[in-house]
Amino acid sequence: MSGSNGSKGLLGFYFGTSLVARILVATVLGAAVGLALGPQAAAVKPLGDLLLRLLRMIVVPVVFFSLVVGASSVSPSRLGSVGIKLIAYYTITTALAVTVGLLFANLLKPGLGLVLEGTNGATLSATPPSLVDTLLNVVPTNPVEALAGGNMLQIIFFALLLGIGISTLSESQDPRLSSAGQAVFKVCEGGAEAMYKITKWIMEYAPIGVFALIATVFSQQGSKVAGPLAMALGTVYLAFGAHMVVIYGATLKAFGLSPLGFFRRAREAMITAFVTRSSSATLPVTMEVSEEKLGVSKGIFSFTLPLGATINMDGTAIYQGVCVMFVANCMGQALSLSQQLTVILTATLASIGTAGVPGAGAIMLLMVLNSVGISVSEGTAAAAAYAMILGIDSIMDMGRTLLNVTGDMVGTVVVAKGEGELDGSKWD
Ligand code: ASP
Repeated sequence: MSGSNGSKGLLGFYFGTSLVARILVATVLGAAVGLALGPQAAAVKPLGDLLLRLLRMIVVPVVFFSLVVGASSVSPSRLGSVGIKLIAYYTITTALAVTVGLLFANLLKPGLGLVLEGTNGATLSATPPSLVDTLLNVVPTNPVEALAGGNMLQIIFFALLLGIGISTLSESQDPRLSSAGQAVFKVCEGGAEAMYKITKWIMEYAPIGVFALIATVFSQQGSKVAGPLAMALGTVYLAFGAHMVVIYGATLKAFGLSPLGFFRRAREAMITAFVTRSSSATLPVTMEVSEEKLGVSKGIFSFTLPLGATINMDGTAIYQGVCVMFVANCMGQALSLSQQLTVILTATLASIGTAGVPGAGAIMLLMVLNSVGISVSEGTAAAAAYAMILGIDSIMDMGRTLLNVTGDMVGTVVVAKGEGELDGSKWD
């Protein structure tokens, strides 16, 4: 009896501690155990492999359902001048964000020189396809085959079309068609919510999996991995800072707005994003700040901010750009220019499909890796490198969520200014 109480207490302690704290402790413990025990620590490897399998299991359905729901939530009639401008702004800044990430990764080369052991089965595709082929390949000839094979770009393309189709149906004058459209929407919405629930459960297991993955990495590779990991973290944060200052600064200036004034007024939402690691959870604060501090009219922000929290993720895009390069470097294989262009395309789309919840970007990273032929299968160098990133994901997630939310607000004030819907008196 006392034994069952004891185990209950332990479980209670486990689930009662914040996920971030658990993962960080697991990372440190895993590194310590891996270094102390050496090859013996490999006994825990299956626990880490289990986490990788669970994550890979969830990635296709999460992407599919959340993109269908995201695309069908935007009503075609609202895609007027504001919608088109906004989506153009969101997409361009996201593509720029991946580029900034790649630039910093090319410059600082995180992970280079650290050739992880166990490269079997994780080689990059020998002859990368040309850009034209990559673009053509985005269109699936058979969507079911794309889903079954986990071809992410094709899945995204089809899911977006399906979402737009559903939203057009839902708005139809014919009641038969509109109720059919709404029914499909409900099914996909339920599917998406169920996938988020499963993701949450997987994340509850993540600390144990991370412990095992990190212990295995350190037992096989020794302490030589700590430096490159710190380098990856530094590169990601430097790119965050550069994007914030250069891209957001220039955009605001181009619209005659003071960047410093913006950051001062927006800081409450930025801090909330940093600590919650969720764009969706920050949304109420983002809206309040946009109305009260930034002087944006409700008509604008009630459309731009929810859409931004769903599809506009500059921080996530930067993180994906840097981390793909990190994983490739750890495998001792540099990415070619055309592969990096593929990364810009996939990471832009991946960040659109990333849910605004903690840790979602790390799952989507799997698909960006996939697009350049890196498969994170158990026992490979790619898996070891991915595990290292996963161990410090919460620290990266804080910064990327902050940038995600900041990008939404920059887009919002810029569109509001362009539409004459910005209350200038709030900026005095
Ligand atoms: N946590 C991020 C957000 O909510 C998404 C991510 O994991 O990249 O914006």
